[in-house]
Order: sequence, then structure tokens, then C-alpha cells
Amino acid sequence: MSRFSMIDVNGLLEDWAKREVGLQNFTVEHILAALSLPEDDYESLFLFLRNKVGSELELKKMLLCPDGHKNQVVDLDTDVSDIYTECVRCDAEDYEQFWVFVFSFNSDYQQDARQHATKDEKKKMTRYLPQMGIGVVNVW
Ligand SMILES: [Zn+2]
Repeated sequence: MSRFSMIDVNGLLEDWAKREVGLQNFTVEHILAALSLPEDDYESLFLFLRNKVGSELELKKMLLCPDGHKNQVVDLDTDVSDIYTECVRCDAEDYEQFWVFVFSFNSDYQQDARQHATKDEKKKMTRYLPQMGIGVVNVW
């Protein structure tokens, strides 16, 4: 059973969406960490977020190099069997593909959120989201 609060998750997403400096390509782990939730909530939180795809959120997959640097972000159904793996931030190339699910805000939702944001809410800073330690590889 899920223990996370849907109200808290929705509030966090709204808070992130209102910021002027946008937050894109966040993972389930980022939300777990931001709300201090246990990893046990991963699956139910993922399903909760996936149900927002097409309205508030978009879901894609992102390639990470072995050092955890963010690389290509592509649609889930993209054929990546012969994608060129060369990290944009370090020397890693021809590495074993490691993909993670990433969510972004639907642009209509983000626009709506920003229209309802106060000046202070818009000015909130976004910390860099580390990609290290993400343990889930998608299998598609
Ligand atoms: Zn790298």
C-alpha cells in the first residue's frame, strides 16, 4: 500500500512548475528525496505520476553515462538499439546504455502554474538534481 500523500506530491509538482527557471527531467527518486519518502514508495509514486502523463506531465527516458551525466532524452518508444553513446560531459563513449525514466512538465500545465504563481514562488531557486544513485533502468 502506498503511504505517500498525494496532496504533498501535487503540491511539490505545483511548486516546481511555478518556478521561472524550469525544472525538467526529474525522476521518481528526486520526488522521493524532496519529500523524504522511502524507496518502498517508488512503484506507487511512479504509477501516480504516470497517470498525469498527457495532462500535467510528460514521460520520456534519458541516457546516463557510467558517471551519471545526463545525455540524450528521447521518447519512450524510440528505438535506441544503435544510438550513439558518447557522453557530452566526459570522455565516456561506446558505453553500456543505462536509461532512466524522466518526467517533465507539460507546457500547458507549466504555463498555467506560472500564471497562478506569486513573485516569490516564481523566484524560487532550483537546486541541481544529481543523477547519481539512480537505480532503476527501464527495460523498453
Ligand atoms: Zn559522462
